[in-house]
Order: sequence, then C-alpha cells, then structure tokens
Amino acid sequence: MRISVIGCGYLGAVHAASMAELGHEVVGVDVDPAKVSALSAGEAPFFEPGLPEILKSAGATGRLSFTTAMPQVRGARVHFIAVGTPQSRGSNSADLTYVDAAVDALIPHLADGDLIVGKSTVPVGTAMRLAQKVKDSGSGALLAWNPEFLREGYAVKDTVAPDRLVYGLPEQDDDAAAAKALLDEVYATALSNGTPLVTADYQTAELVKVAANAFLATKISFINAMAEIAEVADADVTKLADAIGYDARIGRRFLNAGIGFGGGCLPKDIRAFSARAEELGRGESVAFLKEVDAINMRRRQRMVDMVVEALGGQVFQKKVTVLGLAFKPDSDDVRDSPALDVAVQLNGRGAHVIATDPEAIPNSIRLQPQLGFATDTADALHGSDCVVLVTEWQEYRELDPVALKELVRTPLIIDGRNILDPDRWRAAGWTYLGMGRP
Ligand code: NAD
Repeated sequence: MRISVIGCGYLGAVHAASMAELGHEVVGVDVDPAKVSALSAGEAPFFEPGLPEILKSAGATGRLSFTTAMPQVRGARVHFIAVGTPQSRGSNSADLTYVDAAVDALIPHLADGDLIVGKSTVPVGTAMRLAQKVKDSGSGALLAWNPEFLREGYAVKDTVAPDRLVYGLPEQDDDAAAAKALLDEVYATALSNGTPLVTADYQTAELVKVAANAFLATKISFINAMAEIAEVADADVTKLADAIGYDARIGRRFLNAGIGFGGGCLPKDIRAFSARAEELGRGESVAFLKEVDAINMRRRQRMVDMVVEALGGQVFQKKVTVLGLAFKPDSDDVRDSPALDVAVQLNGRGAHVIATDPEAIPNSIRLQPQLGFATDTADALHGSDCVVLVTEWQEYRELDPVALKELVRTPLIIDGRNILDPDRWRAAGWTYLGMGRP
C-alpha cells in the first residue's frame, strides 16, 4: 500500500521506515530540511537502535523516500500524522498548532476515500474536531485515530510488533468499516501475528493513550513516594519494590525509584491530561496527576540536595561528574530530561560539572552549552569530587569501582537510578549513596 507519514521525528521516522520494511511504499514528509536530507541519505537524524539498519534496507528497495514537499503525498491512500504536540508555552495544555498545520497542509492533496490517521498524542476531542475539518474540506477523505505506544530505545520493535493496536474510528458505520479495512491492510503483518486490536470511537482511542501514560507516570511516582518515606525511615525502597513486585497484581516493572521520569511524552502528557480534564469540568478526577508530577519534580531536587550535602554544604568549584544526560538509556533524547536538569542545577550552584553520555552530548550542548562535557567516561571522572549516575545506561551498570577509584579525587558516588550494587562499591572504598536506600 502507498502511505505517507507527516512529521518524521522520533515517532514518524521510525514509523515510516518500519512501514516500508513491512512492504509498504512510504513517503515521509517533514518541514525540517536537515532531517529530510539525513533521512534521504539513509542516516538516522537521532539515536534509535535498529533505525539506521532499516533506513538502509528499506531505502535500498526504493520503497522509502523523504521530502519537504507535501504534494508528494498524492497517490498515497493512508496518511499518518506524527507531528509533535508539545506543552504550550505558559500553560499545561497541549500545543496543537503542528497537528492543525499538518492537516491543513495535507487536505488539498487528498483524494476521495483517502484515510488520515492521527498518531500524535492529543487531548480527547481533537479527532472529532479534525474529522469535521476534513469533512468540511469536501475532499472525501476519512479520519481515524491510532495512538502510538512505542518506547524510545525499542521503537523499531514496538512499531513492527506492537503490544496492541488501537483504532479510533468514525461514528458512521460505513466510514468506520472503510477506515478499519485500510488500517487492517497497513497492519496486516502485526494482525496476522496475533497482535490484539481494540477498535473504539475517537474519544476512547485518544483517552487510551493518555490513560496509559498517566498510569505509568503514577507507578513511577508511587515508588518514588515510597523512596521519600524510606529515606526518613532508613528503609530500602529497592527491596520494597522487589517484594511488592512479586505480587502479580502489582508487577515489578516501572517500580524503580530514582530521580524520576522525563522525556518528550510522560511529563507533558500528564499535564495536558489534567488541563483537558479541567476544561471538561472534571479536573478533580485526575487531580492526583498534579501530585504525581510534583513527586517526580522533587526527585531531581532531592538529588541536587544530596550532592550538596555530601560535599559538605556547598558545591562551589567542586568537580562533579554527571554520568548520563538522556532522559532514559538507549536514547539521545534530552527533552525534559531529569539527568540534564540535575547537571544544569549543579552548574547553577557553582559546581564544575563534567557531564558525559554515550549518545546525548550533541543534543545537550545545543540546549545547555554552558555545561562541561567529556565524551570519554574516564576523562569525565578524572579528578572528580563527586560522581552522580543519572541515566541507567548498560555501560554505567558495568563500571568497575576498583578501577574507577584510581581516577577520582574523592570516591563518592550518588546512584540516582539505584542500579549499582552498594556492597560492591563500598567494598572498593567508595562512599555509596542511593535513592531511598540506606
Ligand atoms: P518530534 O519533535 O521528534 O517530531 C515531530 C516532527 O514533526 C519534527 O521532525 C517536526 O519537524 C515535524 N513537523 C512539525 N510540524 C510539521 C508539519 N506541519 N508538517 C510536517 N512535519 C512537521 O516528536 P516525536 O517524539 O516524534 O512525537 C510526535 C508525537 O508522537 C507527539 O504527539 C508525541 O507525544 C507522540 N509520541 C511520541 C513517542 C516518543 O517516544 N517519542 C511515543 C508515542 C507517542
């Protein structure tokens, strides 16, 4: 099938390449010429495991192309909208200007029977409004909402073999059947492999996405709230998480206490959900999300306070090594990254910060050029007064405390992700501090 993908960022580029890999003929459209020229050359404009490989293999088949020219979408039957929906400036609500601009730019190129498929995360009610806009255009196209659940770091796998598919379909039966038939054709491989499918109305599909993110954020803030209590009670939150996680109703995943969640999705999605609930007169139903957000933001602050305290009350001119900048491992994404935030706050207090990350240094330099950076972990650690581990990259899990002790000035490590073995580090002569661990 010929399809187009409008917006080729973390979501759209992976979606376009994966759809081509599955056999579809795909044109990706983005307003950013630099992104388009990288993708056209078969290069991933950001770090995502597996993406360079499928860009090359799908590119070689001639089934995948990228452009800045919207008219190139003509002839495609399904058009995915994968543009950003960031937090609005000065409010918690989602900024829908990119979604509206993409749909407006697409409409003149639509043919009768084409299907627009929204993938971006939007406030409930958006699809209904956009469907009316498409109807009013007289293009004869239909609209569906098909929220995306991919995780950065696993985006290719999650796109090719998702946990589940959700279709938000038009109200009218014939339109719903036509939209579903096209989506089934797009996702034929996943469906034939038994991927569960939930079909629903627009509103439910939109809410599924924000509800999923709200639940995940709540789970993380729950365990971080337990970490706050463990800190004052001298208890161990990692053992607590193991013990409650054995209960199948609770589960161990997403129960890692630390410096909290970040990235381009969870923080802005829970805020936008609260804002939308308030607009709908049901702010109290999700009032707990404000607390989830507040707990989350306190964890970064707690980390900074721990560094200050551990260094005797002030960090001025102390060399602090920050291990990690990305909001999570296996990504170069630093949008609302707690790791980058900790580095910035320490720098703001006068510490001599040297930050490192396997992939996220270029993005961090663009946002926070005032920080010190080192690409080599050993260089970052050299002469350090305090090491803070803030992104749980596999290579940081494997650090050797004995060898590292030779590099630093003071063997002091604060493990903001609770991934190191305290006994091993202490045995090697380090002062080890974790988050909610004695
Ligand atoms: P992103 O910022 O990486 O990508 C958005 C892209 O859209 C950019 O390349 C931008 O240049 C392009 N764009 C903006 N306006 C355009 C227009 N009018 N026409 C064509 N291109 C345009 O954002 P992202 O992380 O890919 O997120 C996109 C959406 O997907 C958001 O709603 C997000 O919440 C949702 N989402 C993201 C993820 C994720 O892990 N990143 C997962 C699930 C859902």
